[in-house]
Amino acid sequence: MNANELSPRLQIVANYVPQDARLADIGSDHAYLPVALVLNKKIQYAIAGEVVQGPYEAAQRQVAKNGLDQSIEVRLADGLEAVFLKDHINAITICGMGGVLIRDILARGKHLQRLSGTEKLILQPNVGEKQLRKWLAAEGYTITAEEILEDHRKVYEVIVAEKLEDPVEYAPQELLFGPFLLNERSEIFLEKWQRQLTKLEKVRANLARSDQQLTEKIKQVEQEIQWIQEVLHESK
Ligand code: SAM
Repeated sequence: MNANELSPRLQIVANYVPQDARLADIGSDHAYLPVALVLNKKIQYAIAGEVVQGPYEAAQRQVAKNGLDQSIEVRLADGLEAVFLKDHINAITICGMGGVLIRDILARGKHLQRLSGTEKLILQPNVGEKQLRKWLAAEGYTITAEEILEDHRKVYEVIVAEKLEDPVEYAPQELLFGPFLLNERSEIFLEKWQRQLTKLEKVRANLARSDQQLTEKIKQVEQEIQWIQEVLHESK
């Protein structure tokens, strides 16, 4: 694959990066995303943040190999510590991690005043989308776009969020399924939730057999099972 080509998953993320954005890509193993965006002339400046030495060095090598040291700064840092307000970043990508980790990176970034609140967030959690959407909604972000896709037999979701003047309020079902994905109900979406339903039914059976006091957990699993059944049933 050429350096200006991305995997289908990262290409979808790239599509949501605004033209000429000042981008921070957090967790930027190999800096594939910022390198492709600069080579394709979508952006002229990016920070590639990495917390682990190996991927940090791989990102540095990729940037140097493509002669992009003037456009991409690779920074060794934990999460949004790679970014300062004076960098005037207006788009942040955090991809290929769990939703809870992405949430914690954003929450810590907010606490450390590394987020101005005006950045467009383009997030690609591998799991834990519900927890991430819950945080975004609680922080007054509006989800402005979502995608679900299959890449190398894995299903991924992309969530785009921004702070708008009148933030949208979400129903719990929208936080679970994703407001746009729920509305669209694509084939990939329905297959994902059919698989999740099968998994949760097994979890419920195991919980019912356990001796521990897990009433709250069972209630939560049953609620989710009911919502999934409703969505799948309405889509028939
Ligand atoms: N973003 C790339 C992608 O989507 O293909 C790489 C994904 S890779 C699975 C996750 C990367 O995030 C790893 O290189 C890991 O070291 C990095 N990472 C995990 N936690 C991080 C944090 N708190 N700050 C910066 N990078 C982090």
